[in-house]
Amino acid sequence: MAERTKYILDEADLPTQWYNVVSDLPEPPPPPLHPGTREPVGPEDLAPLFPQALIAQEVSTERYVDIPEEVREVYRLWRPSPLYRARRLEKALGTPARIYYKYEGVSPVGSHKPNTAVPQAFYNAAEGVTRLTTETGAGQWGSALAFACAQYGLECEVWQVRASYDQKPYRKLMMETFGATVHPSPSALTESGRKILADDPDSPGSLGIAISEAVEQAAADPNARYALGSVLNHVLMHQTVIGEEALKQFELAGDTPDLLVGCTGGGSNFGGLAFPFLREKLAGRMNPVIRAVEPAACPTLTRGTYAYDFGDTAGLTPLLKMHTLGHGFIPDPIHAGGLRYHGMSPLISHIYELGLIEALAVGQQECFAAGVRFARAEGIIPAPEPTHALAACIQEALRCKETGEEKVILTALCGHAHLDLPAYGAYLSGEMVDNELSDDVLAASLAELP
Ligand SMILES: *Cc1c(COP(=O)(O)O)cnc(C)c1O
Repeated sequence: MAERTKYILDEADLPTQWYNVVSDLPEPPPPPLHPGTREPVGPEDLAPLFPQALIAQEVSTERYVDIPEEVREVYRLWRPSPLYRARRLEKALGTPARIYYKYEGVSPVGSHKPNTAVPQAFYNAAEGVTRLTTETGAGQWGSALAFACAQYGLECEVWQVRASYDQKPYRKLMMETFGATVHPSPSALTESGRKILADDPDSPGSLGIAISEAVEQAAADPNARYALGSVLNHVLMHQTVIGEEALKQFELAGDTPDLLVGCTGGGSNFGGLAFPFLREKLAGRMNPVIRAVEPAACPTLTRGTYAYDFGDTAGLTPLLKMHTLGHGFIPDPIHAGGLRYHGMSPLISHIYELGLIEALAVGQQECFAAGVRFARAEGIIPAPEPTHALAACIQEALRCKETGEEKVILTALCGHAHLDLPAYGAYLSGEMVDNELSDDVLAASLAELP
């Protein structure tokens, strides 16, 4: 019998509930604090920014939350997403390891981001909000939210990090095609942006600055709310459709993972894949090692401090207890724009502190080498972000080649690179560099923690 390489679920297997990992943790993550009072923030503090349904999900301790049928209808455009066995990559590496990848590049914008953009737009529309503001770094999140807003008739306004706005005109065009308005960040439209521009008119921007601008605009308009594409508990919960589907697909494959690897920017695709498996692990039904992979240029888990910090540069957000490099930290302009965030999801940070997951940092040249190797074997060009996870997969697969171990590895291939090909161009032409992040630069940034 021919061996299968692709595991596809029926529409009927589309998950009906999101999984809330908080319900199964030995202790809950520390709450967000009000920056003025240093007291835990209440729903009324968050109401100018988020709809009630999402605020309730953010603090929920329920194990499962039902996915509204209106959201499942949109999910059906591309979900369930396929799980592949990377037989050709295994062969190319000569490894006895079995490598699987859950592919999220089949979504309308080519990444996992619509898994949360769609419910976020839905809940806002249901509560009468007419306009959503957000930031985007690499352009993936802005595209996803623009698509989601088009589904429910919402206006969408996006602050795109200046460097990416200039380098990625196609992402901007995608957002505009879906009906969004796109501004480069820093912009003169907000106080936060004007302050940065006064100091540096040529500022390339950062995710932290763009968040400040989008938050400021949402807070000033009673009909607007703000949407965040990663980091927060409700975002990671929406992404658990990835892991729930993958669990069913592993049943079809008759296999069990020994190792999960995922790339971490704010932690949402990693958490989305890993949390349902962590539930199984905590229940004693399987025992995979779970490993987060981050860029050496923005190493929040491996070199950051676990402390309360702002989610943005201007200090407009609540204080989040998280692994952080400092809210003023501006990472090197590496090509994996989606991984250039100064903090890490409080939930992932907490789970890391509990010792339930491991972390590893990898330089971008090794990542793109892995991306090229994967593309030539499997025919999918991975987005720059998941090349980090693939680099870690390949490291492990080559270790298995030495030891003969038939380890089962699962990774999230959270997006394709069709709009990020210039990054491959930089790698292929030999222009790509790995700059060391010095201890001094990091210490200076951490000295500014609130
Ligand atoms: C946004 C993005 C990331 C980083 O965000 P996480 O919340 O860590 O998943 C990674 N990969 C892709 C393709 C992205 O679009």
